[in-house]
Amino acid sequence: MKVAFAGLGALGTPMAARCAARPGLAVWNRTHARAEAFGAAHPGVRVAATPRELAVGMDAIITCLPTSAEVAALLDGPDGLLAGLAAGSIVVDCTSGDPETSRAIAARLAEHGIAFVDAPVSGGPPMAAAGTLSVMCGGSAEDVARASEVVAPFAGKVIHMGPVGAGHAMKAANNVLLAVHILALSEAMTMVTKAGISPRVAAEVLNVSSGRSFVSEVLFPERVLTGTFPPLFRLALLEKDAGIAAALAGELGIDAPTLTAAHAVFHTLRAKLGESADYMEPFRVAESAAGVTLRG
Ligand code: NDP
Repeated sequence: MKVAFAGLGALGTPMAARCAARPGLAVWNRTHARAEAFGAAHPGVRVAATPRELAVGMDAIITCLPTSAEVAALLDGPDGLLAGLAAGSIVVDCTSGDPETSRAIAARLAEHGIAFVDAPVSGGPPMAAAGTLSVMCGGSAEDVARASEVVAPFAGKVIHMGPVGAGHAMKAANNVLLAVHILALSEAMTMVTKAGISPRVAAEVLNVSSGRSFVSEVLFPERVLTGTFPPLFRLALLEKDAGIAAALAGELGIDAPTLTAAHAVFHTLRAKLGESADYMEPFRVAESAAGVTLRG
């Protein structure tokens, strides 16, 4: 299967690098210099100048862009994906997108005989590089089986969640929980630190107790206690994910005050910290508000 990759960002780059182990990979990126640099680092990879050029002759296109809006915008126009894709091909969208736009994209592609699977991932750049991402798929069983082959180089686990949009709904649920845990832990940790408890000891206790989470077990010890805040996942993208979850709850008539509140806090933080801040920055904001530091 000839695979093409669009979107060489923080996550897309290590995912595409895994795909480069198979022959025939083509890549495209909005900022062409990034695609050229990728091609130079991976001999044999074709670097396309436009989405149309990317799609010509390919069986599958993987997209990994900020939101579903950018994926939809890639389709049309003389240089769009649809100008290059052949009937029978498949678009596998690894963006953390929204279900409604994905259903519209799937319908537009179906008019041309092209399949669509939403396939957002969980794990981040280190797990992408290790080929151990979890992939949550939405689409028909037949299309998801094809998508599983496409994502195999970077997937540790592929789960079929339901029809188109179900992958994005699941991913939004996961990430709004991540947002809740980050905010809750930053507040609880500054509280106990100000009460005179060592943050390292507090983390040790939490992590053998019922308040633990991935944030307390992995992210807090690795990044906050050590004071290393590597830019791996933009806070703006987590705010977007929490917004997708809050909107989905609203559309479904679900009262979700906690999820909605987490989105509102992240929305304020995004406005305050800007588009390039990392998603662990709420810890530094909480430290500064409480006048404590959470170092080990
Ligand atoms: P980045 O912001 O690092 O990269 C975004 C990519 O999208 C870049 O290649 C950028 O191109 C491209 N892009 C931005 N705007 C447009 C546009 N208008 N048209 C075409 N291309 C565009 O994001 P990530 O790689 O971190 O994330 C990508 C997706 O994966 C997001 O949906 C995110 O929520 C999700 N995700 C990210 C994780 C992470 O840990 N980073 C983990 C799990 C999911 P350019 O180089 O020109 O800026």
